[in-house]
Amino acid sequence: MKGNKNIDALKAALPAHVTLIAVSKTQPANRILEVYSQGHHQFGENKAQELTRKYNELPKDIEWHMIGHLQTNKVKYIAPFVHLIHSVDSLKLLQEINKQAERHNRVIPVLLQVHIASEETKFGFSEAEVEELIRNPELETLKHVRIKGLMGMATFTSDEEKIRREFKTLKSLFEKLKPISKPGRVEMHELSMGMSNDYPIAIEEGSTMIRIGSAIFGERKV
Ligand SMILES: *Cc1c(COP(=O)(O)O)cnc(C)c1O
Repeated sequence: MKGNKNIDALKAALPAHVTLIAVSKTQPANRILEVYSQGHHQFGENKAQELTRKYNELPKDIEWHMIGHLQTNKVKYIAPFVHLIHSVDSLKLLQEINKQAERHNRVIPVLLQVHIASEETKFGFSEAEVEELIRNPELETLKHVRIKGLMGMATFTSDEEKIRREFKTLKSLFEKLKPISKPGRVEMHELSMGMSNDYPIAIEEGSTMIRIGSAIFGERKV
């Protein structure tokens, strides 16, 4: 096996408090196995069906992260095994995750996705909506999900100051929400921000999880 040079270099440069999620969407199993065999076991996918197929094909000690928009009718496929869902963007989705987690007798950790970019197309709650959700008494009844933090994507731009401002916005919301944590229900520990083009800025601004695809696997063909 040739080995993946990027993963070792990335991990060597990462602060200890930052978790690297290798985003393997569109990558075939052999390229994932290459990275896996170098000791990296956390992977992220953005489509429920692709994630499920790869879970079935690949070693069972991989921690699978769902990072893309998740439709409620797809939750059932990933509920048995998913390690962390980064992309919860509605109460309805949270309710469905709770329901499917209960069927599998487990608690699924999730992050709430916050819309911080100026681009219209990206999914996520507004800052006010996240705060409202965390204060919602209904959360007490959702015993099979645990909110572990926030996720956000900055605008895709070369304007580094804009990216930094957006990450700062997410970090300050994260800090604001920490004190209203509810033990066992809402525990603000993880801040998932940073991709191949902006992760150094994200880390400077307080990220605890970066989601890296092309900087590990090279440019995606699609
Ligand atoms: C594809 C994707 C990534 C990784 O993107 P790269 O630019 O290849 O690092 C990160 N987060 C989400 C939500 C993605 O869909």
